[in-house]
Amino acid sequence: MEGVVRLGVVGIGKIARDQHLPAIAAQPGFELVACASRHASVDGVRNYRDVGELLAAEPGIDAVSLCAPPQVRYEQARAALEAGKHVMLEKPPGASVSEVEALHEIARARSRTLFATWHSRAAPAVEAARAWLASREAGALRSVEVRWKEDVRRWHPGQEWIWEPGGLGVFDPGINALSIVTRILPHEVALRGATLTTPADTATPIAAELDCVASNGAPVRAVFDWRHGPVEEWDIDIETEGGRLSLREGGKRLAIAGKDIDAGPEREYPALYERFHELIATNTSDVDVRPLRLVADAFLNGRIVGTEAFGRS
Ligand code: NAP
Repeated sequence: MEGVVRLGVVGIGKIARDQHLPAIAAQPGFELVACASRHASVDGVRNYRDVGELLAAEPGIDAVSLCAPPQVRYEQARAALEAGKHVMLEKPPGASVSEVEALHEIARARSRTLFATWHSRAAPAVEAARAWLASREAGALRSVEVRWKEDVRRWHPGQEWIWEPGGLGVFDPGINALSIVTRILPHEVALRGATLTTPADTATPIAAELDCVASNGAPVRAVFDWRHGPVEEWDIDIETEGGRLSLREGGKRLAIAGKDIDAGPEREYPALYERFHELIATNTSDVDVRPLRLVADAFLNGRIVGTEAFGRS
C-alpha cells in the first residue's frame, strides 16, 4: 500500500477522543474519512451508527481502527477484515485468546494487516529497558516485581463494561504492565497461580495477584489493585546480576543501577499509527497475544476471593 490510508474509526468514547483522533490528525499517512458510534459523532467526517453501516456506505476506505470495549472487538474486526479492510485493534485485542487467534487467521487468509496494539509498549522508556535487559551488562535476570495500582472511580467513571465478562476488571490496566513485561524480558513468562479479588456485585476482579516464573527460573510477581489512590502507581522493578532496572509512571521513566536515563517525550499513539502505516505498507501483521494469554491463564488457574460489593449504579 502506498501513500495515504483512508481510515474509519469505530467506537467514539474516551480513548478515541483523548488519543486516536489527535494522533490521526497529526499523522500525514492517514486521512480520517468516517466514524461509527451508536451515540457519538465526529465533526468534519461522515458518521454512521455501527461498523456494518460504515463498511456498506464507504467502500473506498482502506482501514479501520477499533476503539470500543473488548466485548465487541471480534464481531467488528471480523466484519472489517471480511470487507477487505486492514484492522487496528485497541488493547486488549479481544475478550478471549481464541477470538484473536481466529482474527489473525482471517487476516492471513485475506492478506490484510491486523495490528493488535499494546500502547504501553510504545511508552518512551520501554525499548531502552528491553535493550539493556538483553545486553551482557545486565547479566542474568533475578526477579521481577510489578505494582500497577490506581483508583477505578477516577480512571473508569461510569464504565459498566469493565465489570462484565470480557471486560477484564483490574486486568484492563494490569494488561498494560504485562504487555511491557512480555516485551522487555529476554525470557518467556509462565503463570503458576493467581488470586482474583472479586466484589459481590461484579463479574470481574477489582484486585489481583499473579505468581509467574520466567523461563530461567526467576520469579515474576504482579500486584494489580483498583482500590488505590489518590496517586496511581504504575511501576516495574527488575533485579538482574548487573543491578536494578526500574520503570516508573507506566514506562515513561527509567532508572538503571541507580542512574536516571532520559527516555524522551511521550508519543504512544502517534507511534502506534506510524507502525500501523508501516505494517500496511509492508503487508504484514503484528499480533502478540502473550499479555492476554497471561490474563486468561489467571482466570483459568486463579483462586477467586470474594470481597464487599463495589456499589455499581
Ligand atoms: P468507553 O469510553 O467506555 O467506550 C468507547 C466507546 O465504545 C463508547 O463511547 C461507545 O460509543 C462504544 N461502545 C461501548 N459499548 C459498546 C457496545 N456494546 N457496542 C458497540 N459500541 C460500544 O471506553 P474507553 O475508555 O474509550 O476504552 C475503549 C477501549 O480502549 C478499551 O478496550 C480500553 O481498554 C482501551 N483503552 C482505554 C484507555 C483509557 O484511558 N480510557 C486507554 C488505553 C486503552 P457509542 O455509545 O457511541 O457506541
